Amino acid sequence: MSNEAKIDRGWVEVSEEECKGCALCVTACPPEVMRLSDRLNGHGYHPVSYLGAGCTGCGVCFFACPEPGAITVYTLAPTQKVVAGSQPSACAV
Ligand code: SF4
Ligand code: SF4
Repeated sequence: MSNEAKIDRGWVEVSEEECKGCALCVTACPPEVMRLSDRLNGHGYHPVSYLGAGCTGCGVCFFACPEPGAITVYTLAPTQKVVAGSQPSACAV
């Protein structure tokens, strides 16, 4: 068994004021790590939020979203390996 920790391969940032709460990204996300929040944004929509773990950086949510600028996807370098207790660096795409 490897002693390397299983790490996320990406993460997303949501611009809540751009989100219309349509949930297309929630439905499209393969690992199901997006959820509509209970709070309302300034336009009266429930914005989506990232659960904070499990993102693969696949970008499906980005392409599913009809609102430009609502979702930004970040991916970790594919060759990067992280052992338990260390902190990965990231690159945005
Ligand atoms: S990049 Fe992929 S895994 Fe990450 S939140 Fe978006 S759809 Fe889900
Ligand atoms: S697809 Fe875009 S507009 Fe719809 S809930 Fe997701 S981030 Fe918001």
